[in-house]
Amino acid sequence: MNRAETYLAFDKQHIWHPYTSMANPIDAYMVKKAEGAHIHLADGRVLTDGMSSWWAAIHGYNHPVLNRALHEQIQNMSHIMFGGLTHEPACILSEKLISIVPQGLEHIFFSDSGSVAVEVAIKMAIQYQHALGKPGKKKLLTVKKGYHGDTFAAMGVCDPVQGMHCLFKNVLPGAFFAQAPQCSFFDAWDETDTAQIASLMAEHHQEIAAVILEPVVQGAGGMRFYHPNYLKQLRALCNRYDMLLIFDEIATGFGRTGKLFAAQWAEICPDIMCIGKALTGGYISFAATLATSEVARGISAKGGVFMHGPTFMGNPLACAVANAGIDLLMTGAWQTQVAAIQRLLTEHLAPARDLKGVKDVRVLGAIGVIELKEEVDIRVIQDMFVQAGVWIRPFGRLVYTMPPYVCRKEDVVKIAQTMCQVLNNYLKLHQKTSGAI
Ligand SMILES: *Cc1c(COP(=O)(O)O)cnc(C)c1O
Repeated sequence: MNRAETYLAFDKQHIWHPYTSMANPIDAYMVKKAEGAHIHLADGRVLTDGMSSWWAAIHGYNHPVLNRALHEQIQNMSHIMFGGLTHEPACILSEKLISIVPQGLEHIFFSDSGSVAVEVAIKMAIQYQHALGKPGKKKLLTVKKGYHGDTFAAMGVCDPVQGMHCLFKNVLPGAFFAQAPQCSFFDAWDETDTAQIASLMAEHHQEIAAVILEPVVQGAGGMRFYHPNYLKQLRALCNRYDMLLIFDEIATGFGRTGKLFAAQWAEICPDIMCIGKALTGGYISFAATLATSEVARGISAKGGVFMHGPTFMGNPLACAVANAGIDLLMTGAWQTQVAAIQRLLTEHLAPARDLKGVKDVRVLGAIGVIELKEEVDIRVIQDMFVQAGVWIRPFGRLVYTMPPYVCRKEDVVKIAQTMCQVLNNYLKLHQKTSGAI
């Protein structure tokens, strides 16, 4: 065995990967380096990246500008505590973020990961209601098919079935669940889509601090694209019932849906917003929770303090790379890149519609989804994608892509065509072995 093979065997025995069994793990592939939109495996194979490392690496890997920002920052300091101290990278980043997020979000809390940013948002909402003299309002309302992270409060507002609430019964904080938005992004708006969540709000508003959801695109909970008018109505309902509106833009932020932030599809501003993933261009785990002055002042009224403070809060390296990444983004190139990816995915994923076993094909911004009628066998299909030279990581019934914005035309075409080809082969094979139609 060569070194990579030895380590792969060690990895399989000792290291947990996301959502895997230690007894019967799925094989992992050893990566040597990644550059632009390509992942180089230790065995010499090169894969075109269709995942942006889960929404994050929007500028591609090993980007000279992002690398330089980190090198420069490391000469000054990699980290310094944020309690009682501050630094330029954090100030510059806050200034930039406040100027690009929906207007009104002017206060910012930095944390280490998306899940923590969601925990922070939930705490903010509860502390806000408490400070306003409404301590009874401490529950969350959300919609089904959502995903907000893997820590406990975040898990508590994930889809109750897919989020495996049954494993953590009586441990998760209870939340109210409305049905997932039904009216698709592409359909004519149906006024009745918010009727069910509105009636939950009417009935339970005295207990509910905030509504939390992913705007327009529900990501890991089902890759669903719903109508922006849903959010407009929700904004009005939240005002009526004194609930805060929390947008989880951790996946949708920074241009992925075709708008800089998905909230802009609805032209509204939430009270609290979470960002993460692409914030550092996929370089370092980092996230932020932004709030309006109304929320910030509310929490701080009567001497109140906001009760959170991670050790690595405002990490200068993360801030520096985020600053460089946002500068790249604000040159505006992303708009043409995302529009081109949308066009190419729309054209080259379309043939999948004719495959038996495919339920739906949809594209929004730089997100392409093939939804199947049945769950895929990840062990089989993963290897087929790697053999074909493309990195796609399906889950459940979803084979989807969100490529780095820097993908060249031929990369995007290869990703989409490979998705169709692999699925065609996979579905044939699957029909043969299972005898299913
Ligand atoms: C990924 C994700 C999270 C969790 O972020 P982590 O950095 O993995 O903790 C939360 N919300 C949404 C919408 C996400 O896509």
